[in-house]
Amino acid sequence: MTAPTVKLLINGEFVESKTTQWRNVVNPATQEVLARVPFATPDEINAAVASAKTAFKTWRKTAIGARARIFLKYQQLIRENMAELAAILTAEQGKTLPDAEGDVFRGLEVVEHAAGIGNLQLGELANNVAGGVDTYTLLQPLGVCAGITPFNFPAMIPLWMFPMAIATGNTFILKPSEQDPMVTMRLCELALQAGIPAGVLNVVHGGEEVVNAICDHPDIKAISFVGSTKVGTHVYNRASLAGKRVQCMMGAKNHAIVMPDANKEQTLNAIAGASFGAAGQRCMALSVVVLVGEARQWVNDLADKAKTLKVNAGTEKGTDVGPLVSCAARDRVESLIERGVADGATLVLDGRKPLVPGFEQGNFVGPTIFDGVKPGMSIYDQEIFGPVLCLAGADTLDEAIELINSNPNGNGTAIFTQSGAAARKFQEDIDVGQVGINVPIPVPVPMFSFTGSRASKLGDLGPYGKQVVLFYTQTKTITARWFDDSTVSQGVNTTISLK
Ligand code: NAD
Repeated sequence: MTAPTVKLLINGEFVESKTTQWRNVVNPATQEVLARVPFATPDEINAAVASAKTAFKTWRKTAIGARARIFLKYQQLIRENMAELAAILTAEQGKTLPDAEGDVFRGLEVVEHAAGIGNLQLGELANNVAGGVDTYTLLQPLGVCAGITPFNFPAMIPLWMFPMAIATGNTFILKPSEQDPMVTMRLCELALQAGIPAGVLNVVHGGEEVVNAICDHPDIKAISFVGSTKVGTHVYNRASLAGKRVQCMMGAKNHAIVMPDANKEQTLNAIAGASFGAAGQRCMALSVVVLVGEARQWVNDLADKAKTLKVNAGTEKGTDVGPLVSCAARDRVESLIERGVADGATLVLDGRKPLVPGFEQGNFVGPTIFDGVKPGMSIYDQEIFGPVLCLAGADTLDEAIELINSNPNGNGTAIFTQSGAAARKFQEDIDVGQVGINVPIPVPVPMFSFTGSRASKLGDLGPYGKQVVLFYTQTKTITARWFDDSTVSQGVNTTISLK
């Protein structure tokens, strides 16, 4: 039996692509082919953008309350379909069912936030900036915007993008990851069911060529990208050159500092969850832990904690670590582990080729820990994106901060301590955009914005929250004076001053 095809969404219709180029969507625990995803043709991309351009004419003027009510309905539909969404996500991506629900839920929070667009898109007004003159701002939508998403959060990251873009009055082209587009498509079906009009949300599938066509398309005004640093840098440069507004959230190497006064049990639990959860395939995963002073003696305790995690298919009860997304991802992680050994790091726990009865074909790598990791080693310099934790040591907090600030990435970081003074020093001196204090994965909730920094981000404004309202709108500032017949003429004003 041939696998079902993933559809494009153009002008409110889910349509079969006419392309000759297809790729399989594969269950990473079993290698079962779940679906075939098309790589859209140039005509299909143009049709999607044309429908978004036409829809923008009416959508931009749709009442703010009408826009908000669609997202109120949408959040309800996502809640009602949570179990189905999580099951689709686990089948195509591999993460555990509870974590798949978490993926949907963190996106749902953005949808809830989008329902409050009436309060978020308010302008400002200053009364009497000069005699009889008021100045006020309008935050107006840009037009057709686009989003390009990675494989690791196929629900949350599309939901970071199109709800806020559409709530602010734009129309949207989404290009999901070709590795796991099915849950994204189910979310788009629910979005249409919630009342998003034809042409306001469109979906095209594909890889490099489709992304390049989006970067180059003259009718697309802004692009939000989340993915690897290599691709993000390319998208940023290409789309910026084409005159677009671009934001790119990219790769990471997130360090945590463990101070010797940290609560040991809580810290070990937090590190194990944040390093090995989702098989390490989170942009905010903790991949380096710097043990300070006496905490250096916790290496074996960390390994013991990691050994308690269960490696199995994401569908099985009690699973902590599911498979990696693809055979290629597993091969890459295994070869980086080999490089770590060759570079002289100490392999404390080797998770390669775990036995997973019933899922022998799955792309599994179990929790893996290296000690004695230093800059210059491949396992330190590269983003591994697997369940591999690198341990390093430092004598002081200052030395640990120095190590983190010397790393080019700035997505997330955390400190574990019971000292307010140490935590405050860390918060002040660390040069990373998202900081956890006894919180291992400090991804902000949507009243704030995602604020990765340095090499983990290009563009000034982050996804969701207040920043994304500015990203998806143009501020128009209006200075107005109204005369009535009794206003006394001041004559000609040849100065720049408002009188
Ligand atoms: P990826 O860069 O391979 O793919 C991202 C998107 O770019 C996909 O839609 C893909 O189709 C497209 N793409 C792939 N190759 C391309 C090319 N050569 N030219 C143009 N487009 C191309 O990323 P991924 O493997 O799907 O996701 C994992 C990466 O994403 C990791 O580096 C992770 O850190 C990063 N990520 C970052 C964040 C963040 O917020 N900073 C969040 C999630 C993931």
